[in-house]
Amino acid sequence: MKPDDLRRTLEFYRDIGVKTLYRQPATANAHTTETSEVAEVKQPGAAPTTSAPVVATPAEQPAMSLPPLAPSGDTLPRILADIGDCRRCRLHEGRNKIVFGVGNERSPLVFVGEGPGADEDEQGIPFVGRAGQLLTQMIEGTAKKEGIELLRADVYICNVVKCRPPGNRAPEPDEMEICGQFLYRQLLAIAPKAICALGGTAARALTGRKEGVTKLRGKWTDWRGIPLIVSYHPSYLLRPYNQDAKREAWEDLKKVLHFVYD
Ligand code: URA
Repeated sequence: MKPDDLRRTLEFYRDIGVKTLYRQPATANAHTTETSEVAEVKQPGAAPTTSAPVVATPAEQPAMSLPPLAPSGDTLPRILADIGDCRRCRLHEGRNKIVFGVGNERSPLVFVGEGPGADEDEQGIPFVGRAGQLLTQMIEGTAKKEGIELLRADVYICNVVKCRPPGNRAPEPDEMEICGQFLYRQLLAIAPKAICALGGTAARALTGRKEGVTKLRGKWTDWRGIPLIVSYHPSYLLRPYNQDAKREAWEDLKKVLHFVYD
């Protein structure tokens, strides 16, 4: 890759919030030196940088094959291909299937959850277990009540991490950072009218904020210019004592559905 193209690519990564890039083996037409270190790129919310991320320069031109992220022409199949048989973080060790995302690739609305559970890991599809069934009912039931013709298949659903964390623990920050670059690419490729972050992990990944969901939910913010709303994770709503949260989640959903589909 020419230095100018490399700089532009790294600036793009920085602008979409990717902090660290992971080197792939050099391709046949790239230099073959083994010593490349790839960019440190600023996180969302970090102090703005004035220059492009710095690439370490060994004596020779660095050997580097960046993931083929095309700012304008990225597609979901290409992102999936780049994920490949991913071993970039420890979550691959226990997974059965990578859970990439499901639904309408041109959807104006994307729901982002935390990460696959056992059922999702088994089937390779997000939100198919109990929490997923609740999410489906909520989307379809609320839409129907509000006079909006909408099925689950009409929206797009994905997660912050694509492999099941062991014992359904929350993803670790490094796992979220590594997998987050693919989530960012999914969101940029779909370019929906709105994003709904379900639960604290998705909220943190997309807003960079540390407050709990109770504080963040129901208010519009944005992710890279795309309106974003935070709401409760459906598995939280499955707990029996959360009547208020259930009502609030319905309010959030109504808000986002009317915003997107009216
Ligand atoms: N919880 C999530 O966050 N995502 C899924 O896909 C399933 C359960």
